[in-house]
Amino acid sequence: MAKITFIGLGNMGAPMASNLLKAGHDVTVFDLSQPAVEALVAEGASTADSGKAAAEGAECIITMLPAGKHVEAVYLGDDGLLSALPEGTLVIDSSTIAPETARTVAEAAAARNLAFIDAPVSGGVGGAKAGTLTFICGGEAGTFNRAKSILEGMGKNIFHAGPHGAGQVAKICNNMMLAILMAGTSEALALGAKNGLDPAVLSEIMKQSSGGNWALNVYNPWPGVMEGVPASREYQGGFLVNLMTKDLGLAFDNAVKNQASIPMGSLARNLFQLHAGQGNGELDFSSILRLYKAD
Ligand code: NAD
Repeated sequence: MAKITFIGLGNMGAPMASNLLKAGHDVTVFDLSQPAVEALVAEGASTADSGKAAAEGAECIITMLPAGKHVEAVYLGDDGLLSALPEGTLVIDSSTIAPETARTVAEAAAARNLAFIDAPVSGGVGGAKAGTLTFICGGEAGTFNRAKSILEGMGKNIFHAGPHGAGQVAKICNNMMLAILMAGTSEALALGAKNGLDPAVLSEIMKQSSGGNWALNVYNPWPGVMEGVPASREYQGGFLVNLMTKDLGLAFDNAVKNQASIPMGSLARNLFQLHAGQGNGELDFSSILRLYKAD
């Protein structure tokens, strides 16, 4: 079992760290939010006054932070974590960030003989709690193989997408697809409801038909259709609209850089941005349904 430091105990990071504890690892945690730290300490984790102090003596560091600027702040610069870690330490960033930022951190890590991989995840809070996340990794094969046994404590499918940044590219493509699916699913359910159909019945029909998709199967956006999903608790918890707009912005920037056309992704970005601008940024992303359905 490994000595692991986990930084970033939000909607995803908290259950992921919890699963590492259950897998028998020696886990030290750090977050800017004291209640988030206390919850993990109550489960058996250790903690310290700063990310750097928490990382002392760790064989492996895992970060699960909101965006690239947080990842840069934690790792880079004279006061960053990379400057303090002993050579050979395994460093895994599971945040969803730009591929370029992941490559910048990877280069800084390589300059200090640290083993870094980008390992963003898919599967949502449900997957994080159940330990069934999909990890999409970018980096050297040797580092990927080293990380795999630790990632297996939190996930079911562990992919090596390619070199540094490749995990983030795959993740950005996946989330662009997810945003399109969630907006499309909401649109179809709202149209059915306008015609007097029961959204639960329509959902079952589409699940067994060619419109079936992940949003319908495990994350239905219509309140009351599915138990245990954000739609059934006023869209609290889950994957925030603000994080989805961040990911769609990453896809958009990437498409511009690579001269790729993403008409559906661009429309999804505008829909989620509009929704965020109407004060919904802190709700789960399935609340996009509210753009189509008046309460
Ligand atoms: P979150 O906002 O719930 O949690 C982020 C945590 O990081 C917070 O607890 C915050 O206090 C902490 N933090 C921020 N800066 C810090 C710092 N400098 N030091 C220590 N802690 C710091 O976000 P989340 O939903 O857990 O998502 C985390 C990442 O995972 C994001 O990049 C997101 O895009 C990605 N992701 C989220 C989901 C989801 O369903 N929520 C799914 C897949 C991927």
